[in-house]
Amino acid sequence: RPRVLSGIQPTADSFHVGNYLGAVRNWVAMQETHDTFYSVVDLHAITAGHDPVALRHSTRVAAAQLFAVGLDPERTTLFVQSQVPEHAQLAWVLSCITGFGEASRMTQFKDKSVKQGADRSSVGLFTYPILQAADILLYQADAVPVGEDQRQHLELTRDLAQRFNTRFGRTFTVPAPYIVRDTAKITDLQDPTAKMSKSSSSPAGIIMLLDDPAKSAKKIRSAVTDTGRDIVFDPEQKAGVSNLLTIYAALTGRSIDDLVGAYAGKGYGDLKKDLAEVVAEFVRPIQQRTQGYLDDPAQLDKLLAVGAEKARAVASATLREVYDRVGFLPGS
Ligand code: ATP
Ligand code: MG
Repeated sequence: RPRVLSGIQPTADSFHVGNYLGAVRNWVAMQETHDTFYSVVDLHAITAGHDPVALRHSTRVAAAQLFAVGLDPERTTLFVQSQVPEHAQLAWVLSCITGFGEASRMTQFKDKSVKQGADRSSVGLFTYPILQAADILLYQADAVPVGEDQRQHLELTRDLAQRFNTRFGRTFTVPAPYIVRDTAKITDLQDPTAKMSKSSSSPAGIIMLLDDPAKSAKKIRSAVTDTGRDIVFDPEQKAGVSNLLTIYAALTGRSIDDLVGAYAGKGYGDLKKDLAEVVAEFVRPIQQRTQGYLDDPAQLDKLLAVGAEKARAVASATLREVYDRVGFLPGS
């Protein structure tokens, strides 16, 4: 079976529909066909300032949600990144074969650092894509299921894998991106040209899986729509309505064409009202199951310890080979 690796940051107390439709839904599906490794990437979550108590909580909530949406601990290795020290170790080695200019071209750093002020951004935020490359390469992943926003980082990962292999001998599998086109970018409800994001969207722009459905309904009602009144799918000219249609179609399994036909002659208000119901139906069981895991944190931590142990078995073998190739002494 081909191997996949992907990660999600515990940067908020809930995932949003973009995380689910762009990435996590696929993670669940790939359990049928792939050897699956998924990580709650807490090392990445401290790059932009954080609260320790909140981080510990949201790391558990993230893991609970992943089990709740269908990751099966029997078939998937789900682990918390900081419990596998090889990630930070490999990131150092990779950072030494990454060009400064190459790292400087990463647009996520540019976007996120503009928001924080360039001088106040951490070096960790800058080197984040190198740590992400380490996350992937440690597991010799063949494919990486992510949203469109991660395409550039994946490209860097591939470059670094190839460069290491050329310089030190074949060590890493060069991974391919696995991006599901239709839902690769869910946009912000208030700013339909920007992606929905845990850390940068305004609360009103983001549909959280664990929010009270009444709250989500309100956000959907006040989502920015477009001039005109027809419900048509046109991501360029009518980004707001198209985003709502994308979410609706993905959560119900109906096609966009089918929805557009069904809403002919109806208004934005009808679409929003129905979408709010679709979201409510969808999140209810997820919320219940998530709470079930959170009610027993000791058991949850135990599942994660087992995941970390399985992950480490793979990661340490890769790191040993890397250390040997670069010329470190045995026993390092
Ligand atoms: P942060 O703002 O903290 O970076 P995020 O919302 O970007 O949070 P991540 O944890 O960085 O979420 O990403 C987890 C996965 O979700 C990644 O595979 C990413 O590509 C995907 N993803 C994030 N936002 C969207 C979106 N709006 N549409 C589709 N996929 C998304
Ligand atoms: Mg992100």
